[in-house]
Amino acid sequence: MHEHTAIYIDGGWIPPGGGGRTELLDSTTGAAMATVAAGDATDADSAAQAARAAFGDWSRRPATERADLVAAIADGLAKRADELAETVTREAGTPISVSSMVHAGLPQMSYRTAADIARRHEFDRPLGSTRIIQEPVGVVAAITPWNYPPHQIAAKVGPALAAGCTVVLKPAEIASLDAILLAEVIDEIGFPPGVFNLVTGPGRIIGEALVTHPDIDMVSFTGSTGAGSRIAALAAQSITRVALELGGKSACLLLDDLDDGDFKRAVVAGISGCLLNAGQTCIALTRLVVPEHRLSQAEEIVVDQIERKWQPGDPLDPSTRLGALASQAQVDTVLGYVQTGIDEGAKLITGGTDRPGDLGGGYFVRPTAFSAVRNDMKIAQEEIFGPVLSIIGHNGDDDAVAIANDSPFGLSGAVWAGDQARAEAAARAVRTGTISVNGALPNLQAPFGGFKQSGYGREYGEAGFEEFLETKSLNLPG
Ligand code: NDP
Repeated sequence: MHEHTAIYIDGGWIPPGGGGRTELLDSTTGAAMATVAAGDATDADSAAQAARAAFGDWSRRPATERADLVAAIADGLAKRADELAETVTREAGTPISVSSMVHAGLPQMSYRTAADIARRHEFDRPLGSTRIIQEPVGVVAAITPWNYPPHQIAAKVGPALAAGCTVVLKPAEIASLDAILLAEVIDEIGFPPGVFNLVTGPGRIIGEALVTHPDIDMVSFTGSTGAGSRIAALAAQSITRVALELGGKSACLLLDDLDDGDFKRAVVAGISGCLLNAGQTCIALTRLVVPEHRLSQAEEIVVDQIERKWQPGDPLDPSTRLGALASQAQVDTVLGYVQTGIDEGAKLITGGTDRPGDLGGGYFVRPTAFSAVRNDMKIAQEEIFGPVLSIIGHNGDDDAVAIANDSPFGLSGAVWAGDQARAEAAARAVRTGTISVNGALPNLQAPFGGFKQSGYGREYGEAGFEEFLETKSLNLPG
């Protein structure tokens, strides 16, 4: 059982002002695994002030110097990769094989990429006799969720620090441990005090204290649409800049020219895209949209694949593909949606509301698929954030695109067709921030973010770096 009863402010570990503590539960067993500090608004205030005090010096340092320190975070995380992977598996329920790649591996790449961009970025360029100057935004509050915690933190902390901003990180409370590990790595590197600060504890209290704090210049948030909307409303009072990466209800479209082999390949890929991290993924492909006359063909593949290959298992076993959910709250939410699907009259083809046996006290649910889902059903419109797939029939390419777009969200998607040009045409017509054609992998250097209620602002690559910069035009006599 870990004890981390301090928060990290101004280069040191200090007890939270109110002495608060929270017990964290292991999602693989349901047992207590750690006690962490629960900060409050006074800690948010101290952290914001420390970050403000550190900003002047940090922002004026050469970008290459900042980049070297940011790249050192990747080296520090690499040394603790196994510990990080296991920590997030226990926090979020992710299978350890996925944790090693995604939770422990990807963030290293994100810190290195942010450092590389800072080294090559032109912060000061001419436009006639005017200089176009990009300066760091200032003090950034990074508020992050629990589903891909180190990755989502890296998408903010890496570019923000490399751009010259200082940071206060407020991670999801149930994923505090991986953020503490990051703070330990940063502490060991020897960043100047106050450049990076970590306050663990409840989101409503610390998060809202940060969002409304006069020393915070920008809030970068990833999480639910509800919390994002609240943050944007609070930040609007002081015109604090906000970037939001929110939920999704992404569609995987299969067009009707796919031969049987490619149809199966597309369904199999769509299932993986839905069930990765037990569906606790903002870009999860939770709607599988197939030609109406091939619904039964899709159902057969889905049932066979899920029942043979996606049954839940111990997340710490390297052969497990489907792990646990992150919390009992997630289990309750997901089972509530499965019941809603049944009540709405969707056709339950596998899974259901009963819990899988023999897995102890962890937060496991059965992977569930519904067919003959209408796109106006709740299970097709709302983000479930669990292993629940909805199969929807379409009547041609335009109808498939219309179904994909008939969503409050616009984060991601996929299109499969025999004719790639046809798939690309459909992909261009889908209103989402990211979309893949015929199984193409995401490019982690490309901008990532949402349309509609999936948020605004972009992460990763140059676009993600520039989110943390303000632009100034300096007019000089010609
Ligand atoms: P939240 O959006 O509530 O939490 C995300 C982060 O925001 C956490 O750090 C949380 O802190 C913090 N937070 C919560 N409320 C506020 C607030 N009012 N002001 C500032 N910060 C706040 O997600 P939940 O953990 O409650 O998950 C609920 C649902 O959200 C999921 O079922 C899923 O549908 C969706 N979700 C989507 C994500 C995505 O990537 N699209 C990621 C996570 C969740 P704390 O943990 O301390 O509450």
